[in-house]
Amino acid sequence: MKAFPTTLLGAGVTAGLAGCGSMSMPSLPSLPSISLVPPNSERICAGKGIAVELGFPAAGRHDCVMTPYGDVVVSVDHEPALMEGINPSPWFAFKLTADEARPATVTLDYTDYTHRYAPWISGNGRDWAQLPADRVELNDRKTRATLKLDLPKGTTWVAGQPLSPSSDNVEWTRRALRGAGFEEKRYGTSLQDRPLIGFVGGGGIDAIVILTRQHPPETSGQEAYRGFVEQLMTRKDDKAARLRARTRIVLAPMPNPDGVDGGYWRLNGGGMDLNRDWVTQTQPETKSLAAWIMEQVGDRQVVSMMDFHSTDKSVIYAPPLDSPSPAIAFLPVLKAAFDAKLSKPPEWSYAHNPKGGTSKGWALEQLQAPGITVELWDQIPSAEARALGVAAADALIDYFTQ
Ligand SMILES: [Zn+2]
Repeated sequence: MKAFPTTLLGAGVTAGLAGCGSMSMPSLPSLPSISLVPPNSERICAGKGIAVELGFPAAGRHDCVMTPYGDVVVSVDHEPALMEGINPSPWFAFKLTADEARPATVTLDYTDYTHRYAPWISGNGRDWAQLPADRVELNDRKTRATLKLDLPKGTTWVAGQPLSPSSDNVEWTRRALRGAGFEEKRYGTSLQDRPLIGFVGGGGIDAIVILTRQHPPETSGQEAYRGFVEQLMTRKDDKAARLRARTRIVLAPMPNPDGVDGGYWRLNGGGMDLNRDWVTQTQPETKSLAAWIMEQVGDRQVVSMMDFHSTDKSVIYAPPLDSPSPAIAFLPVLKAAFDAKLSKPPEWSYAHNPKGGTSKGWALEQLQAPGITVELWDQIPSAEARALGVAAADALIDYFTQ
């Protein structure tokens, strides 16, 4: 697109007026409130003492308009997709800055998509509280959600889940593994040039592969991943020590950093659902991760490949119990552990599609391992998500050290 010559522009406001056919206007009156927005601002709209801002990792893909009364309407837009999307996850994350404490009405406009994530609020981007349900009003089609907020002076963050940009789970995993002799490895580079970081350690007879966040907003799955990793690394009894001593542990905490930091709903920077790309491996994220896992696993038996996700309910997708894997008998043991230990055990669904492009299907085809897609309910309390991860780690330790 051809840029306007800057000599014709002066200020952005002048360009806007010229576009309305007002070339002969002799002089400009005092400028409207748009002049408050500095050039190159990460503000997407401002007025009436309130501004909406992006410009942080995992910020959503938004535009914004404001009524004359200072009510805000934020569009929630998705990333361009190579294929027709499935399982829409309309992600939102933005900052509101208020000149003084005031109530505010913010409508999330999803056009033809529907509201999925119950909003979370934060004053600092780190500590989050869910907005009470009676502060969220949906239209009949659920294509618009209106939030009633009491803004303090300064910045308030609004997001679909507590923010967890790409650095977060890498740093969490690094801390969780500290002192355990793990290697941190940059196994590849994302399409938009972000590092792809994995960790590997433990023993050398069997192997386990653990990943999460292929799909950007699925942070309740990441909580279960954290429960799993923490229990696997910190359980103190003999069995746990033996499992760690005999099992090579391969972790991919952030396989889609472009999607996460770009505020994408589901895809990577190439418009691809990475968890449909494991067979064809068209994207650098999947290709390099699959190659790194194969290299790390070598000829070890992989006891399972667990991939933690989120959706509208907690459910485990597993291969059929007669699948050709030496570790397949672990699945009923894992299910029994969940049923015994969790207050709301997940449903199970058994199937295998060798061409589906999921990590789960790839694990069975390439590693002869049970690939397990662990889906946590979007709104599961953090402690319950962690408990599921802990129960999975305990089941793994107890079963494979019999
Ligand atoms: Zn997912």
